[in-house]
Amino acid sequence: MSYVAPVKDMLFVMRELAGLAEVQALPGFEEASDETVAAVLEENARFMSEVVAPLNWTGDIKPATWKDGEVTTTPGFREAFRRFVEAGWQGVQHPTQYGGQGLPKLVATACTEMLQAANLSFALCPLLTDGAIEALLTAGSDEMRSRYVPGLVDGTWTGTMNLTEPQAGSDLAAVRTRAVPQGDGTYRLFGEKIYITYGEHDLAENIVHLVLARTPDAPEGVKGLSLFVVPKRLVNADGSLGRRNDVYCASIEHKLGIKASPTAVLLFGDGKGEVGAGAIGHLVGEENRGLEYMFIMMNAARFQVGMQGVAIAERAYQKAAAYAKERVQSRAVEGSSGPVPIIQHPDVRRMLMFMRSHAEASRAVAYVAAAWCDIAHHHPDPERRRQAKAAYEYMVPIVKGWSTEMAIEVASTAVQVHGGMGFIEETGVAQFYRDARILTIYEGTTAIQANDLVGRKTARDGGAVAQMLLAQMRQTAGELAGSGNADLQAIGRRLAAACDAYAQVVDYVVTRIKSDIRAVFAGSVPYLKLAGIVHGGWQLARAAQVSARRVAAGGEDRQFHAAKIATARYFADHALTSAGGLRDSILDGAAGVLAMSAEQF
Ligand SMILES: Cc1cc2nc3c(=O)[nH]c(=O)nc-3n(C[C@H](O)[C@H](O)[C@H](O)COP(=O)(O)OP(=O)(O)OC[C@H]3O[C@@H](n4cnc5c(N)ncnc54)[C@H](O)[C@@H]3O)c2cc1C
Repeated sequence: MSYVAPVKDMLFVMRELAGLAEVQALPGFEEASDETVAAVLEENARFMSEVVAPLNWTGDIKPATWKDGEVTTTPGFREAFRRFVEAGWQGVQHPTQYGGQGLPKLVATACTEMLQAANLSFALCPLLTDGAIEALLTAGSDEMRSRYVPGLVDGTWTGTMNLTEPQAGSDLAAVRTRAVPQGDGTYRLFGEKIYITYGEHDLAENIVHLVLARTPDAPEGVKGLSLFVVPKRLVNADGSLGRRNDVYCASIEHKLGIKASPTAVLLFGDGKGEVGAGAIGHLVGEENRGLEYMFIMMNAARFQVGMQGVAIAERAYQKAAAYAKERVQSRAVEGSSGPVPIIQHPDVRRMLMFMRSHAEASRAVAYVAAAWCDIAHHHPDPERRRQAKAAYEYMVPIVKGWSTEMAIEVASTAVQVHGGMGFIEETGVAQFYRDARILTIYEGTTAIQANDLVGRKTARDGGAVAQMLLAQMRQTAGELAGSGNADLQAIGRRLAAACDAYAQVVDYVVTRIKSDIRAVFAGSVPYLKLAGIVHGGWQLARAAQVSARRVAAGGEDRQFHAAKIATARYFADHALTSAGGLRDSILDGAAGVLAMSAEQF
C-alpha cells in the first residue's frame, strides 16, 4: 500500500483547531479562499501519492552515488523534481513577487506534511531550499534577493545550509571556516563542511549554499559568525550562470536511513573550481550577525523537521493499520471460531491507537503553531502579532523535538505490528523506522531543542508565554468538565491534571534556573516531552469538543467524529497521564541523573 494523504483530517485540523478562517482574513491572504485551499491540498495529495511516494522505496535500495565530485541521485528523482517545481510546489508559501503562490504557512504546512510522508529523502531538498529562501528574504539585500530568490522559488536552483564541521556539531561556536574579504565586496571562503544535505546533486542547475564562516578579525564564539551566500556556479548580473565556484564535494555519507538524500562533505577553497583559490561568497546582512540570520533558516527548518516527524508517523500508522486488517493470526481472547485478523487483538488495538493518536496530536500541535506564525507576520494589530510570534517561537522546539521523538516510537511500533515481517526490508516499514531515526539528530538534537525551550523560550520571559498557553488550556479543560458528555468530562479531568503538572514544571524552571542550573537542564528533555504531550492532549481535546457538538447535532460523518472523540479519549488516558510522572522526574530526579562522577561511567 502506498501513501494516502489524510486530506479530510488535515482540513478538519486547519478549520476547527488552527483557525483557518482567521488566517484567510489576514491581509495578504485574500487569494486563500476555502475552494483554493481545498483544491491545493487535493492536488498536492494526488501529486505526492502518484509521483513522489513511489520513489521512496527506490531511494532506499538505490541511494545517491558519488563520482569525481559529482552526485547522481536515485533514478526517477530528476524527473519527479522537475515535475514538482513545474507544478509550483516549491513556492507554495513564498511571496508572489518572487514567483511563489503566497499562501499561508498553515496551508504550506499541510503540503509539507504530504511531501515528507511521501518521501523523506526527496523532500529534504525542497525543505532546505525553503529555509534558504526565508533567510535571504529576511536578511539579504534587495539585490541579493532579486538575484537568488526567484531561481530558488521556481526550482531551477536549490538551497543548502552549511553549519556543521568535524569539530563543530551542536556547538557552532567552534566553526572555523574562514571568509577573507577581497576589498571588492566579495569574500573568499576556506574550510570543510560536513553532513551537508543536498550539498551536491543533479536535480537543478545551481546550488545556493548558505555558509557560516568567520572573518579574520571576528570575535571568538558564536558572536563572530557571519553568513555568506556561496553559489556552486557564480551568478552573473543578468542572472545567467558563470564559472564553477571553488566548492567541491569530496564524498557523500553511507547512512542508516534517508539513503537517497545525499549528505555531502564540502570543501571550500580547495582550488578545484574555475575561480582560483577560495570559494567566492557574498556577505548576507552584516558581519558577525550570521547566527542570528541562520536562526531564521534553522527555525523554518526545525519546524519542517517536526513536520517530517508528523509525516512519517502518519505513513507508518497507515501501513500498520492496513497490515493489521489483513494478517490473520490467533483466536480472539474472548473466543472465536478460528484465527482472526490481528486487529481484533486488544494489544494490536493499543498499538494502533498509540500511533494514530500521536500522529493526530502532533499534526494538530504543528498546524496550530503554523497559524500563529501566519498571524505573527500578517495581523494588523501589533499586539496580536507580538503574542502570536512569542507563542510560535515557544512551539518550534516542541514541534521539532517532541514530534520527532514521537515519530521514532510510532515507526518502531509499526514494525512491531508487522511482527517478523516488520523486520524484513521488503514490507517497507523498516525503512520508515530507519528514516525516522535521523529526525531527532539533525537541525539540532532533541537536547538542543530542549535547551532552547528551557533557556530562550521559558526562563528568559519568566515563563510568560507558557503561562499564557496554560491559561487557554485550563479554559478548555473547564469547558470539558462542564459538558454533559462523559468522554469529554474524562478528557477534561486528565487535561486539568496535566496542566497542573506542566505549570509546576514551568515554575520550577523559572525559579531554579539561577540557583541550580544543572538540575534544571537535567530535566530539559523530559520538560520538552511533557510540553509536547500536554499541547497534543489539549488539541485533541479541542477536536473532541468540536466532534461532540457535531455528533449531538446529528450531522453527517458520525464515524469520523466518533473516532475523533475516541482518539482524544485514548490520548487523555494513556499519554496525558504520563505528565504527572514526567513532572516528578523533573522536580525530584536531577540528583539521580547527576549523582555519579564521569569516572564512574
Ligand atoms: C543525515 C544528516 C544530515 C545533516 N544535514 C545537515 C545540513 O544540511 N547542514 C548542516 O550544517 N548540518 C547537517 N547535519 C549535521 C547535524 O545538524 C549534526 O549532526 C547535529 O547538529 C549534531 O551534531 P554532532 O553530530 O556533531 O553531534 P554532537 O554535537 O557531538 O552531539 C552528540 C551528543 O551530545 C549531545 N550534546 C551536545 N551538546 C549538548 C548540549 N549543549 N547539551 C546537551 N547535550 C548536548 C547531543 O544532544 C548528542 O546526543 C546533518 C547530519 C546528518 C547525520
